Amino acid sequence: MHHHHHPCNLKHITFFFLIYLSLHIPQTIEARNPSQFKPSRHNVNIPEIKRHLHRFGYLQHNNNNVSFEQALSRYQKNLGLPITGKPDSDTLSHIRLPRCGFPDDVDPKTTAPFHTKQKYVYFPGSPRWTRDVIPLQLTYAFSQQNLTPFLTKPQIQRVFRRAFAKWASVIPVTFTETEDYETSDIKIGFFAGDHGDGEPFDGVLGVLAHTFSPENGRLHLDKAETWAVDFHEQKSTVAVDLESVAVHEIGHVLGLGHSSVKEAAMYPTLKPRSKKVELNVDDVVGVQSLYGTNPNFNLSGLLASETSTNLADDMLVRSED
Ligand SMILES: [Zn+2]
Ligand SMILES: [Zn+2]
Repeated sequence: MHHHHHPCNLKHITFFFLIYLSLHIPQTIEARNPSQFKPSRHNVNIPEIKRHLHRFGYLQHNNNNVSFEQALSRYQKNLGLPITGKPDSDTLSHIRLPRCGFPDDVDPKTTAPFHTKQKYVYFPGSPRWTRDVIPLQLTYAFSQQNLTPFLTKPQIQRVFRRAFAKWASVIPVTFTETEDYETSDIKIGFFAGDHGDGEPFDGVLGVLAHTFSPENGRLHLDKAETWAVDFHEQKSTVAVDLESVAVHEIGHVLGLGHSSVKEAAMYPTLKPRSKKVELNVDDVVGVQSLYGTNPNFNLSGLLASETSTNLADDMLVRSED
């Protein structure tokens, strides 16, 4: 049986956080009037929406089989928005938010059915880390030469220790820091511009980070960003929370794609000067489907602490069966 290859060759495609400064060139992001995020009918900009749909894989230049309305509907579905097929204000506001640059999963062959409760996705083929030893033990290391001037190495180490611990608490996988960058499984570094992997970084904002799918292990952060661990100390309007990006990118390192659950760590958008560092039940169920469950982890505890999502309610019902 011949399997089709994914048209986008996702195996080694990277992930970025993008911030759409080019759309609005604000003096400061803070100063932007929130009402600008709710455009009314007369300032809907179709070329802007089309550029966004192209950039994230919903429309292809060489494929006219997908209509604008279909592409927009799929975008709305993947972002967990009301599916109208129309450029409504809710959709417009999301198109203008900062987000991860990895294309959302738009291949119908790998996309879950429309009515599924599951919101997380995997890379095509569901690659994961495999080892003979159980539990799986992965090492990570920081590039000595490629750090960020905005943080000390101990600050960076603490952020990643916390971020890895979040994932390790839910799956039977351990993450251990090692000094040996060359031989470690996960290689973390801050790089500027063209750094030799075919995915050059672009300076302040724009692309923030990219990560390769299992079992590659490269996790790259854009050195040009104002990386922060504390927004009281770091006042820059373009500051980016390192821990939020670390948690998200580690999810990609482990094999998760983007989620349509807004509260999920794997949701594609992240605002500057904002933090989202906790795993949502959607992240947990997704990663546990790849690696199994950490015996010490209690899903009902997490569900009890999450108040609102329908997914959580459904999971609770199912786990009581
Ligand atoms: Zn991402
Ligand atoms: Zn890179």
